[in-house]
Amino acid sequence: MSQQNVPIRKKIIILFVVAVANALGSGLAAIYFHPLFLALALGIPVICGLLIVSLKCPRCGHPVAKRTRRVFGVDWTYWGGFTFPSRCDNCGQTFLEGNRTSDVITSR
Ligand SMILES: [Zn+2]
Repeated sequence: MSQQNVPIRKKIIILFVVAVANALGSGLAAIYFHPLFLALALGIPVICGLLIVSLKCPRCGHPVAKRTRRVFGVDWTYWGGFTFPSRCDNCGQTFLEGNRTSDVITSR
């Protein structure tokens, strides 16, 4: 598991940049070169989105893109695929750095 030390947040940002770059680049290529590029313009961002959704907290396994907010005493769960979470909603594990557990925020 050599990827274990790459911060989750960095992975999300990389995937997001790849998705946007491909949507724009392949979109332009579809207009100017060949309509087949449209498949890339749509397909690669979808794949990146699925990869972001499939990322899980290295400590508790909680899906990174699955966010929970407490409003009026009720927990609302939603999927935020295009936000950059900085820590786990479930256990507080930070996503800003590598697989370090010393940064866990325990006071909530
Ligand atoms: Zn967690």
